[in-house]
Amino acid sequence: MDSRQESIAQSLLKRGVSRRDFLKFCGVMAAALAMPKSAAAQIEQALASPRRTPVVWLELQDCAGCSEAFLRASHPTATEVILDVLSVDYHETLMAAAGKQAEEAKAATLAAGGYLLVVEGSVSLGDDGVYCCIGGRSSLDLITEAAKNAVAVIAVGNCATFGGLPKAQPNPTQAVGVMDVITDKPVLNIPGCPMNPVNLTATVVHYLTFGALPEMDSLHRPLFAFGQLIHNNCERRGHFDRGEFVRAWGDAGHRAGWCLYQMGCKGPITYQNCPIVRYNDGTNWPIGAGHPCIGCAEPDFWDRPTYEPIQLDAFTPPLTYPSVSAPTDGITAEGAAVTGGAVGVVAGAALAFGYMIMTKRSEHLAPKISDEEPTDDAGHHPE
Ligand code: SF4
Repeated sequence: MDSRQESIAQSLLKRGVSRRDFLKFCGVMAAALAMPKSAAAQIEQALASPRRTPVVWLELQDCAGCSEAFLRASHPTATEVILDVLSVDYHETLMAAAGKQAEEAKAATLAAGGYLLVVEGSVSLGDDGVYCCIGGRSSLDLITEAAKNAVAVIAVGNCATFGGLPKAQPNPTQAVGVMDVITDKPVLNIPGCPMNPVNLTATVVHYLTFGALPEMDSLHRPLFAFGQLIHNNCERRGHFDRGEFVRAWGDAGHRAGWCLYQMGCKGPITYQNCPIVRYNDGTNWPIGAGHPCIGCAEPDFWDRPTYEPIQLDAFTPPLTYPSVSAPTDGITAEGAAVTGGAVGVVAGAALAFGYMIMTKRSEHLAPKISDEEPTDDAGHHPE
């Protein structure tokens, strides 16, 4: 059978992926898309149909980090679904063909139409695009041609979405993101430096299952992945709420896993699902490894000082988070956790607000790191 006549499910089974793992993958995708468990059956059905969607992947002003991140995904199929099964007809870094042969493959796919266009890297507009030419053609020329017959365009990584590093001041190449130049097609942005491959796979699976791109926010980011602040789901959030901040690399607070806000964490202003899906097959993520979030899913993040605390315009009180320390009034830690969950939003916010007033924790949220020395090695801020 021509491999293009096979369904994705058939291809995967042929490649040694068990049915159990395939069903697990459908469940993981439903969860990544923030859909009910029942959506897994719909996904399973869609991937069992022989419909195949070609993919053309262009690299412009980039470091290939998103391609690298994607190649390191498994699960067991993230790479397989898109690279082998979907039929990637053109990828400058990954394809075996080169030169004329590669260009002919691309030309045939572009002429046939109906493909998904994935773009990695920013578009250079300065001096007629001379700073990013491939095969003698500017990035603007290449992307305009490739977008023409695409069913949708998916920009991956901060460079393709918002201009990324090339756009950092003073932006010598006049770099812009894909949505700044492609305005007559649906453009979906999956920012990040690099993007999280789970979010790309889930977007493609959504397209294959429902025939449309997922719902997006005003920056064209899929809401399933970028609908929540990192800060809201961060495992260190309890420490933020309690005013327990790392004050120096390697101090006792850092070793104890306290909040990285004072070290410049951009989690309170960055939307992405990193705390949930993590990286490297869910192994870990930057904050989990002790580094503050650098805000790589937001526009212009390269122009923001990495280790300077951000200004918090609004205090975000804890909602249902239990205390990070064992209570001392005869309540067990387990009891506090259950109570924290049961009391809910209203009571939680009220308690948090009261606690903030009692401890004057708003002082901890000053835009700049205080000159005061912490009272001890653990970084306890003077109350
Ligand atoms: S400031 Fe950063 S480390 Fe602290 S809770 Fe928010 S996201 Fe997590």
